[in-house]
Amino acid sequence: MKIIKDVIAFAGDIFFPRRCPFCGEVLVFGRNGPCESCRPKLQYVGKDFCLKCGKPLTDHSGEYCSACKRSVRPFDMGRSVFVYDDLVKRSLSSLKYNNKREYAGYFASQIVLCYERTIRSAGFDAIVPVPVSRERMRKRGYNQAELVAKKVSDITGIPLRNDILIRVRDTVAQKDLGRAGRQKNLKNSFKITGNVVELETIMVIDDIYTTGSTMSGIAGVLKEAGVKKVCFFTVATGSAI
Ligand SMILES: [Zn+2]
Ligand SMILES: [Zn+2]
Repeated sequence: MKIIKDVIAFAGDIFFPRRCPFCGEVLVFGRNGPCESCRPKLQYVGKDFCLKCGKPLTDHSGEYCSACKRSVRPFDMGRSVFVYDDLVKRSLSSLKYNNKREYAGYFASQIVLCYERTIRSAGFDAIVPVPVSRERMRKRGYNQAELVAKKVSDITGIPLRNDILIRVRDTVAQKDLGRAGRQKNLKNSFKITGNVVELETIMVIDDIYTTGSTMSGIAGVLKEAGVKKVCFFTVATGSAI
């Protein structure tokens, strides 16, 4: 359980001043993570999820969500910590747009605590954050997925590789495209920039998983480049569709 101790020790260093990552309230000295009022409201994905993409299942009779049954997914497996409800939505939006970078440490520790065994048994060679385009990076100054990925790397010791995948263009018109068009559009949005042949198993990190198009796009290009296994971990996931 060394990894858990590391997570706790690490979590102790990351909040200054320590605030609840969900409502922003300053915490009682010595505390970190969610405040007493937010903690009971948190919706974890729990144990009943799609074995492929990790979305919580509404139909409890199967092992896969309807979207994963319907379409071919180039990624091997995905897991998320929280259901994407208003509480998590507000927090992730603060991380993304309001410079609450310190929340990344809490979210990373939750990914590792919830999926420690899965992460350990997969034997990941590298952690790759979902990249943002150069334009977006310039505008925002940082990539929230990379902040979380860096902290997961610090906790687990798995090397962060933010140099092998780039986003070549933004995909703002995504919602106007159909499912097939969206997947093609996203696949063309990512490009490998380095040699990934020596990396057999990659962990991709993002803040939110929604339709799966982004992860499918990324897993598609990584596998074409020779990566054997691509799994993703996200802070939150939308409900099953
Ligand atoms: Zn709170
Ligand atoms: Zn699924």
